[in-house]
Amino acid sequence: MAQVITVKDLSVIFHVGGREVRAAEGISFEVAKGETFGIVGESGSGKSTILRAIAGLVPSKSTVLEVDGQPAARRRSRDDRRKLQLVFQDPYASLHPRQTVDDILREPLEIHHEQGIDERVTAAIADVGLSPLHRFRYPHQLSGGQRQRVAIARALILNPPILLLDEPTSALDVSVQAEILNLLAKLRQSYSLTSILVSHDLAVVAHLCDRIAIMQLGRMVEVISADDLRSGTVSADYTRKLIAASRGFARIPA
Ligand code: ADP
Ligand code: MG
Repeated sequence: MAQVITVKDLSVIFHVGGREVRAAEGISFEVAKGETFGIVGESGSGKSTILRAIAGLVPSKSTVLEVDGQPAARRRSRDDRRKLQLVFQDPYASLHPRQTVDDILREPLEIHHEQGIDERVTAAIADVGLSPLHRFRYPHQLSGGQRQRVAIARALILNPPILLLDEPTSALDVSVQAEILNLLAKLRQSYSLTSILVSHDLAVVAHLCDRIAIMQLGRMVEVISADDLRSGTVSADYTRKLIAASRGFARIPA
């Protein structure tokens, strides 16, 4: 099967006040077309750093870094950036407070000189389960879940093949988390998206991902299937500890 993302020996080292922070080291994995690959681990284990390295937002070293089957250039072109979209944890911080939903969704289409902007904004709003009434509202006039729907609509409006999701439900109430996860599952199907989902929550990744990487202190401990995660068929002690510590694990639907 064609690999959409290939990462080999990726490392990201930050220099903070003369000190080295090895945020990610020796990271290797592949994501196949249409797959949702999960990355879990405690806070500070390097999950966001891996996504940012793939997106070209932080300097990294690797023997192979391919995005959409192509070697990823150090400096990404506008076209490269268009192929890959990110959704972050806090939609309130990522949406401009003085832009309406309409402005927010229109902007990427205008930047890329796309056609049929009105129709595409209408379709995007419907796609993420918002009502036409939300179109001219500002972020503060929406609930957390609705704001995350807007952020997802913005990420998808240019039809990117790849979506990188960094804790997309972590800031939401539990009931709303499930709605957003179901929406992501639906969109993955209808857009045949390839995605990486980062979360500290095992239940969230088990719900949406086929394979899951476990991160600890900048290293990838192992990669397991969602079934292995549910049945506890893991080889690393650290993964076992993470499962035991995860109170929410009981919520994982079979
Ligand atoms: P996670 O997403 O798993 O919580 P991060 O990837 O954000 O972890 O961070 C991994 C490590 O790298 C942490 O020790 C964090 O403090 C450090 N780090 C992340 N970004 C930067 C940065 N821009 N400058 C310095 N250190 C950073
Ligand atoms: Mg993070």
